[in-house]
Amino acid sequence: MRGREADEISLRRELAEISRRAFNRGLVSGTGGNISARIPDTDQILITPSGVSLGDVEPEVNILLNLEGVVLDSSLGLKPSKESSFHLAVYRLRPDVMAVAHLHPPYATAYSNKGRPLPLVTVSSRVVLKEVPWVECALPGSRELYDFVCEGLKKHSGVRAMLMKEHGVLALGPDLKTAFYLTDLVEDTAKIAYIASHIS
Ligand code: 13P
Ligand code: ZN
Repeated sequence: MRGREADEISLRRELAEISRRAFNRGLVSGTGGNISARIPDTDQILITPSGVSLGDVEPEVNILLNLEGVVLDSSLGLKPSKESSFHLAVYRLRPDVMAVAHLHPPYATAYSNKGRPLPLVTVSSRVVLKEVPWVECALPGSRELYDFVCEGLKKHSGVRAMLMKEHGVLALGPDLKTAFYLTDLVEDTAKIAYIASHIS
């Protein structure tokens, strides 16, 4: 079995790599979005820092938190993402989830504005995602947004991705790559839904 420290080192690297892939893929822009991963067999997570572009994330900027949100290690003195509270809620409510991606992909975000679940217009989206419900809009980093996300998680047990109204997407996976691929699939599904709605 791998040691905790080895797990932390490899997760720091993978979190940096997935953050940059998400940015380079256009799933988020500017300094938006945040991604986290749980260290296996612990109550500790690594999360991206607040205000740093996901395109610039390096392994050492990621911040170690416990499930209560206490900072255990931030060697560069950066603050954890302002959305840490809803990432932590996911890990507390869903022991099956080991990685969380909150990104702002444009087509899926445009659909979030409608206040309806994402139309699952392809077979693969229906098979993989099953449903993509939406949660209400509130200010980034607010207690209200945290409450809306918790409500959504409780109402839709086992959900893999949710739209956050006028904001973005939340994807939950058993690992970082899956959380990234789920967001990518949500965005592609939204693109196809948009294109299909323009074909008469
Ligand atoms: P952070 O930079 O604090 O992670 O915030 C970005 C974001 O997407 C807020 O919803
Ligand atoms: Zn956001």
